[in-house]
Amino acid sequence: MAATDSVTTGSSGRLAVVRELLPPAAARVDRSPAAITLVAVSKRFDADAVQRVHELGQHDFGESRAQELVAKAPHVTGARWHFVGRLQRNKVSRVVGTAGLIHSVDRLELAAAIGARAREQQRVQPVLVQVNVGDDPAKGGCAVNEAAELIAELRQLDGVSCQGLMTIPPLEADPRPLFADLRALRDDVRQAYPEVQHLSMGMSQDFEVAIEEGATIVRVGEAIFGPRPTR
Ligand SMILES: *Cc1c(COP(=O)(O)O)cnc(C)c1O
Repeated sequence: MAATDSVTTGSSGRLAVVRELLPPAAARVDRSPAAITLVAVSKRFDADAVQRVHELGQHDFGESRAQELVAKAPHVTGARWHFVGRLQRNKVSRVVGTAGLIHSVDRLELAAAIGARAREQQRVQPVLVQVNVGDDPAKGGCAVNEAAELIAELRQLDGVSCQGLMTIPPLEADPRPLFADLRALRDDVRQAYPEVQHLSMGMSQDFEVAIEEGATIVRVGEAIFGPRPTR
């Protein structure tokens, strides 16, 4: 291994690299890096790995399965958790109250189940509406032209609050125009519903592009934790 490699090997080096890339990406489009939250997506990494990254000052973590979220969260005191994966209604009770933000609401029944569970806990659960900007059949998310109506209906529910939009572009697509589409949709929706502010978009491969296109939350896994263990 070359000497320069050893500097970037391990979570601390990788996290430092990712953190260094955020401010210049923001500066290229005259944005403040303070307006961007880095979520370290820890799926399939164990609680010890998460704890090590937490000790480096990383506050926000993301999980895509309810079971993993509830298994890891108690081991990492003080972290803020994001649920970023597909959510089934029968898993809602595990996620509400553990995740500070649920990124993947794409249908009214799911929002209603989240709201009902949150009301039982006397909370309001912040969520994002996931939008399938690339019309990718392999991805969750509502269609672009359904998003505004879903948000309007969600706003009628107690116990749940939509604070923005999230997307995962298709693997093979150029993400930039799709990120721009999500931003345009957010700008539109925000005129009627000012609380809809966040744009959760961008992963290890494209978080700098996402920031240039307005992301307020980037979800970065392997660029921080290294190659993800296969199941
Ligand atoms: C796994 C995952 C990520 C992180 O992906 P990386 O390529 O490891 O950065 C981001 N968002 C979602 C929804 C994920 O499932």
